[in-house]
Amino acid sequence: MTTDALLDTARDFVRDVLIPQEATLLRASWTEVEPQLERLRAAARERGLWAPFLPASLGGRGLPLERFARLSEVLGATPFGHYACNCQAPDVGNMELLHLFGTPEQQAEWLSPLAAGRIRSCFAMTEPEHAGSNPTQLSTRAVREGDEYVITGHKWFTSSAEGAAFAIVMAVTTPDAPPHARASQIIVPLPTPGYTLVRNISVMGEPGGGWASHAEITFDGVRVPVTNRLGDEGAGFALAQERLGPGRIHHCMRWIGICERAFTLMCRYALSRELTPGHPLAEQQQVQFWIAESRIEIHAARLMVLDAAARISREGQRAAREEIAYIKVFVAHTLHRVLDRALQVHGALGMTDDTPIAWWYRHERAARIYDGADEVHKTVIARRALAAYRVPA
Ligand SMILES: Cc1cc2nc3c(=O)[nH]c(=O)nc-3n(C[C@H](O)[C@H](O)[C@H](O)COP(=O)(O)OP(=O)(O)OC[C@H]3O[C@@H](n4cnc5c(N)ncnc54)[C@H](O)[C@@H]3O)c2cc1C
Repeated sequence: MTTDALLDTARDFVRDVLIPQEATLLRASWTEVEPQLERLRAAARERGLWAPFLPASLGGRGLPLERFARLSEVLGATPFGHYACNCQAPDVGNMELLHLFGTPEQQAEWLSPLAAGRIRSCFAMTEPEHAGSNPTQLSTRAVREGDEYVITGHKWFTSSAEGAAFAIVMAVTTPDAPPHARASQIIVPLPTPGYTLVRNISVMGEPGGGWASHAEITFDGVRVPVTNRLGDEGAGFALAQERLGPGRIHHCMRWIGICERAFTLMCRYALSRELTPGHPLAEQQQVQFWIAESRIEIHAARLMVLDAAARISREGQRAAREEIAYIKVFVAHTLHRVLDRALQVHGALGMTDDTPIAWWYRHERAARIYDGADEVHKTVIARRALAAYRVPA
């Protein structure tokens, strides 16, 4: 199938199958919606949309980053689009990590069932006691005892931990090494003795459940074989960088998908809502400005993300570091501006859950915080810009 044909298939799937079920999916609990989602996953497989970023040997389509980015935009138009196609965070990042760095044994045990959609996973790095913006401070320890690591620590905002079959845990293994060489990524089967899911954290009023949750978890003397480590000892941050570059492309394109849907809803409502008979909101210049500004910003955002994806493909993500920082900041802000305008145009209706706008407004506020807060990315951009003008001492 050509990329255009695949995108058309995905658009049809989103429009004809997913969006009609959106309202029920967003209102029910995870336990209630899971069977419905399984049926949607079967429908995605039939259409050839399953795990599109994975190679065919793992049941995917082997799409390169830029093509997957375009598909991600289409799937982003509805909150469960990525889940239906088994390319949702955090599993997509964990699958990429296992694919790139897993041993054959780790891949057989964890990647194959994840790729098949039989299990879910989570990624546990952030800790409540330390600034996530400087993860070299993390204090979860994995102490080596013979052929095992003994893990003790406290994590939070571990997305999708509830019901996950394993966590990839970032833990300090070599405390005396330089800061970026202290931590390793270790696969921990869940649940396991010493592991506790303390709570699903209520986020913007919603504790969520299952895949759609963010948990506080603890490890108290959890034992796993040393062979559960991904990559070399102390390579945890290097691996995390590999995970975050493409991850930011995925998130940004998903946000652009949300922007396009909010834009469509805004335009349709502006044309149908009459202030006086025969005079819809769309005649108001302010509304036209919101529509025009949104159109321009979405277009710019898409071009920027595709440019960053192309640079990652050409030169690797280290070379594209600055472009990745641009898009993380710019697209998250574009998302919030477009959602805010769409909500405002809908008036009181925008505050309800009768459209998905308010759901996104709550859930996607985090876009400016996770995968590097705005300020962290801006600091990187400014530091590099200023370096070019510094006069040598
Ligand atoms: C919805 C959601 C899902 C998440 N999922 C996961 C997950 O699955 N796994 C996981 O491990 N983590 C996850 N996280 C955690 C996320 O990675 C962290 O929240 C993020 O790294 C920021 O860390 P922090 O919250 O400790 O904020 P802090 O580091 O304490 O920073 C607080 C604020 O300070 C400001 N700030 C930070 N650094 C600078 C700077 N250099 N200059 C100026 N200002 C600065 C920023 O405004 C920032 O928001 C998730 C977070 C959210 C909200």
